[in-house]
Amino acid sequence: MKSYHKGHELDGLAKIWLDDDNVFFVWGAARSGSGFVKQYKDEICIQKIFDKDTKKQGGCIENIDVVMFEPKYMKRNTKIIICTNFYTEVKIELSGCGYRENIDFIEYAAFKQIWYYYTKNVILLPRVDLSITNKCTLRCEKCNMLMPYFRNPEHKDLKTIKQDLDVLFQWVDVVEDFMILGGEPLLYPNLVELLQYIKEHYQSKIKLLHMFTNGTCTIGEDLLKISEELSIVYDLSDYTVGLPQLRDRIDKFEAELKKGKIKVERKVQEYWQDFGYPEVNHKNYTEDERILHFHNCRAPFRGLYDRKLYYCHLEASAVQAGFMEESESCFVELDKLNRGNKVEIIELDRGYSKKGYPGFCLKCDGCESKKRIPVAKQWKRKI
Ligand code: SF4
Repeated sequence: MKSYHKGHELDGLAKIWLDDDNVFFVWGAARSGSGFVKQYKDEICIQKIFDKDTKKQGGCIENIDVVMFEPKYMKRNTKIIICTNFYTEVKIELSGCGYRENIDFIEYAAFKQIWYYYTKNVILLPRVDLSITNKCTLRCEKCNMLMPYFRNPEHKDLKTIKQDLDVLFQWVDVVEDFMILGGEPLLYPNLVELLQYIKEHYQSKIKLLHMFTNGTCTIGEDLLKISEELSIVYDLSDYTVGLPQLRDRIDKFEAELKKGKIKVERKVQEYWQDFGYPEVNHKNYTEDERILHFHNCRAPFRGLYDRKLYYCHLEASAVQAGFMEESESCFVELDKLNRGNKVEIIELDRGYSKKGYPGFCLKCDGCESKKRIPVAKQWKRKI
């Protein structure tokens, strides 16, 4: 979205959604919905929870009934907070019934951010990604962090990463999911020291710390120890559908984590989604089409790099790799903020920027891409 009132883009939404007369419905009785209800049941008036799953209907969460959505529930000042990963589908259904996005219904992350900022002066971000190295043990075609395209992949300087963390957490009070990734982050020589720094300074601000790994490295005792202390979740990407020769290494890696009582979520990837780079070019899109393309993508991954928070971590990677000029980008300069304009962080997170879309969207098909490609196909030739 184009920003016209920097620093005040969300004032209108706050007025609508924080009205004392509002009565709320929550859409979604699964993990996000039940978590939301538990957190907000004493703060706002939640009348019912909607869910399409007939097995959930008839049940309750925190004494609030789970029912099927029916327009009869919607009255003046009733609002729906959407707590599901199927936001686009629910949006289509509710829009078809004549309800308006951000007026009658809203995504729960947006509601939370507005509620925290306008009632508590707290900046909350659902997700931040920190890439600590451009080196990887694999060389996957279509890596969505663009790693094989880096001409001189290198580890990031630890001092610089610490500065990035410092400027982020100078303004941000809560990050729900903080992702450490690469390349392959376990190649990073100062990983334990970095995690120690996070533990000492920012553990209380991070709800869940994740390590994104392909499971091809070994894990030492000191890394296991700090991982346990920080309750890190290892998001283990299992590429054995494309690279069956990795199975033994990944099995061993997973076993080491489990032995160390580290939480690991192994995800077997059957196929990859093709984001389109480098073939795609949307330069022929009109400005309105570019903004719509960005709006439909709904990328969840913000990128922290060079004292800036980027809306899209792909764009942060593209800037590092030298594929685009910074001036085209969509970011907040964290070291130029002050107490009066720190709200620009959540405006960025909601998709507001001067141009209305990150420059890299012109070279990317986005999260809505329907193109499927083989998993982790290894690049043989030099790029
Ligand atoms: S279209 Fe691509 S570059 Fe643009 S926000 Fe989505 S993932 Fe990022």
